[in-house]
Amino acid sequence: MENSAFTSTLITWYREHHRDLPWRRTNDPYKIWLSEVILQQTRVSQGLPYYLAFCERFPSILELANASEQEVLRLWQGLGYYSRARNLHRCAKQIVEHHHGKFPTTYHELIQLPGIGDYTASAIASFAFMRTTPVIDGNVFRVLSRMFGILDDIAVPKTRTTFKEHSAKLMKYAAPDQYNQAIMEFGAIQCTPKQPKCAQCPVNNFCYAYSNELQHRLPVKTKKNTARKRYFYYYVLKSGSRLFLKRREHKDIWQGLYDFMLLESSTEMDPVTILTDNLADPRIMDQLVIGEPSAEYRHKLTHQHINARFMEIEAADEKAFDDWQQAFDLQAYSKSEVHELPKPILINNYLKADIF
Ligand code: SF4
Repeated sequence: MENSAFTSTLITWYREHHRDLPWRRTNDPYKIWLSEVILQQTRVSQGLPYYLAFCERFPSILELANASEQEVLRLWQGLGYYSRARNLHRCAKQIVEHHHGKFPTTYHELIQLPGIGDYTASAIASFAFMRTTPVIDGNVFRVLSRMFGILDDIAVPKTRTTFKEHSAKLMKYAAPDQYNQAIMEFGAIQCTPKQPKCAQCPVNNFCYAYSNELQHRLPVKTKKNTARKRYFYYYVLKSGSRLFLKRREHKDIWQGLYDFMLLESSTEMDPVTILTDNLADPRIMDQLVIGEPSAEYRHKLTHQHINARFMEIEAADEKAFDDWQQAFDLQAYSKSEVHELPKPILINNYLKADIF
């Protein structure tokens, strides 16, 4: 099939079938950027309420830049991949401080900003500024590999260039924003990963995968995602209605969010044993009452599977209580303060089920 014919069929399909989504009704780079960052690794149905909440609370980049990181993380809570929220905030500050609050208009300037990679730079440049910058995401890999029989392994970084070059040739025959939206939407609702609607597809006569029955083999992706197992043991110190939490400072998942005192193991362990092993002065154990471990809470991230248990801890007296709090750098929060803190969804689930 000629490139021009494919593109024009794609655009016709898009006009008839696309979903009406709020970020498609604007060419404001701020709103486009928000939607793209929120929707990375997130389904539209899950991301939409977050997009609306961010637009309402931060109607322009200035409000976002002036907010505290804690507030941004709190609004982001539940979306996961919290480094995206931190970068969103850093990027807003940088645009306000160095670009007078206006988004740069070219791919090469956009990609210099925090948290803006190849995909987001291409999306903003094409949707907001009509630049011919092809976007490459999982949908585009799938559609192009199936349709044109591109058999390169998409787990290999340089394959992205092959797909970009191919997409750039197709893009010449349509407005850049329309083409990018159309090919991604086609992948999202027509040429889907598991059950592509090939029988009703407007390009099936020309499709390499359809004619060779290779839809489920394409795109080629060899790298296996081997998730690391982590066992989290949370020790929940309480005093009356106050709970003790700490901010996660180290470079790891959930940086900047709040959780309880945590010990970690790469294998399953007895919560009392791991605690005894990790105390500088094991005599402190005599001053504590450790509750029964909670049921296991499981939380899956892309490269990590977390199995968590929570143990409530009571201290025998004020001194033991202070020792414990200081040893683990914990801060006391009331129920309403805890509610306002940005927390991993795992902690939120525990609080809802077991505490509040
Ligand atoms: S025929 Fe099937 S595999 Fe080919 S582009 Fe259409 S939906 Fe995708």
